[in-house]
Amino acid sequence: HGEAFPDAAPDTDFAEAQARQNAWDALKQVRQNLGNTYLPIVNGEPVNTIDRVDSVNPSNPEEVIGTIGLLSLEQGDRAIAAAKAALPAWRRTPASERAAILRKAGDLMERRRFHLCAWMMLEVGKPLRECDAEVTEAIDFCRYYAEQMEAIDRGYNFDVAGETDRYHYQPRGITVVISPWNFPLAIPTGMTVASLVAGNCTLLKPAEVSSVIAAQIAEILVEAGIPPAVFQYVPCKGSTVGAHLVKHPDVNTIAFTGSQEVGCRIYADAAILQPGQKHLKRVIAEMGGKNGVIIDESADLDQAVAGVVQSAFGYSGQKCSACSRAIVLDAVYDTFVARLCEATRSLNVGPAEDPSTQVGPTIDATARDRIGEYIAKGKAEAQVLVEVPAPETGYFVGPIVFGEVKPEAAIAQEEIFGPVLAVIRARDFDEALAIANGTNYALTGGLYSRTPSHIERAKAEFEVGNLYINRGITGAIVSRQPFGGFKLSGVGSKAGGPDYVLQFLEPRTITENV
Ligand code: GLU
Repeated sequence: HGEAFPDAAPDTDFAEAQARQNAWDALKQVRQNLGNTYLPIVNGEPVNTIDRVDSVNPSNPEEVIGTIGLLSLEQGDRAIAAAKAALPAWRRTPASERAAILRKAGDLMERRRFHLCAWMMLEVGKPLRECDAEVTEAIDFCRYYAEQMEAIDRGYNFDVAGETDRYHYQPRGITVVISPWNFPLAIPTGMTVASLVAGNCTLLKPAEVSSVIAAQIAEILVEAGIPPAVFQYVPCKGSTVGAHLVKHPDVNTIAFTGSQEVGCRIYADAAILQPGQKHLKRVIAEMGGKNGVIIDESADLDQAVAGVVQSAFGYSGQKCSACSRAIVLDAVYDTFVARLCEATRSLNVGPAEDPSTQVGPTIDATARDRIGEYIAKGKAEAQVLVEVPAPETGYFVGPIVFGEVKPEAAIAQEEIFGPVLAVIRARDFDEALAIANGTNYALTGGLYSRTPSHIERAKAEFEVGNLYINRGITGAIVSRQPFGGFKLSGVGSKAGGPDYVLQFLEPRTITENV
């Protein structure tokens, strides 16, 4: 049951010259505004910080996008105290008023679509079309969670004769949102607005390297009418101040998207009862993937090649949904691999803000070097089929495809988060499914097939949160493909789905004898 979400925002049609022009004009304007300083916002006011860090363009690290002020431990405590003080009024604010603020934020994002795209192209090296889809996703999160909250707010009526039984939801309290850089607009927006619309006071701690974009989110929320201290923008060092916020006794909920390593640490830290803490915390953690696409002997190979290339190399493979394993049945292995290599070789690698670029840079030097180590490992354990050259300046890594990879090899088991694809040969469909399921993760997965029995078996046995049949495995759309996984891919319900906002709420039952 259920129906599609009616207010979904459309992506831009870049076939229209005017749309392209507007996007590049916005890029020029944003380029004239680089190098500003963005301070944390505590209780509605920017606060001065001792620690600062530059955020740079990964396509050209000489270009400083902005300087970020990093919150101190003491300022973190002040932010939590301010959130606590603001909570009673925010939780009493009717859900419809909270929802209206979110809708306004969505409208502001729509109006600033191309400027937001420009900030993303420059700060995280994401090509325009993908930025555009990300703005759409952020807008959809605002509108969808607003609508969800209004429905949830109606509660339930379980009355019987002589007794009223009412079931309703109340906010959990204070939320700390810890967001990643790879979807620097959509993911922090989604986690933050879900928490806010549910009536929680919310602190947003973005990934350091995408804090300038997060500052745009903060600006938009403030302009939309979020009261001071209900939302606070708190860029800080994750390992120290971020960890302190997670452990703070007044925090109720932590919403995290990022690596498995950090997610597991947050889960553990949040479980420890701190002195003075009178509740247990809830952790929502969306972590990694080692996503496989199975290509069987009946697959439409043109479709499969296009889908695998897009899923593996879109945004340089830096999506937790990315395809990092192509599991190909023996009967079509050679044909598929030949076409896959040809398609990979033709990819344009370059600066994200160059219109002809299909694959931009990786996020920073650490990522580039870590991916480089995996590539070296891959060269020792498998066969290099294609390695696309990449520009020297900037944090580029050329897409690379490995063939005849053993299912247990490091490059077939560990999340690399880069443009590295392992092709694995499978004897038959049974073996392909076993290989697909043979990792610690269960996020996305795909099947290219025209065999109904294979499609049925994948639906039943492919252990992933999001299964895609005969299409790419990235780019989930709010409310159409609620997104999230299980096993070590995460804990909590799906972003953009009907259960998501509920996680920020506490249900209550009130029975009255009448
Ligand atoms: N929701 C995104 C997608 O479907 C992936 C999110 C992520 O990488 O964290 O591609």
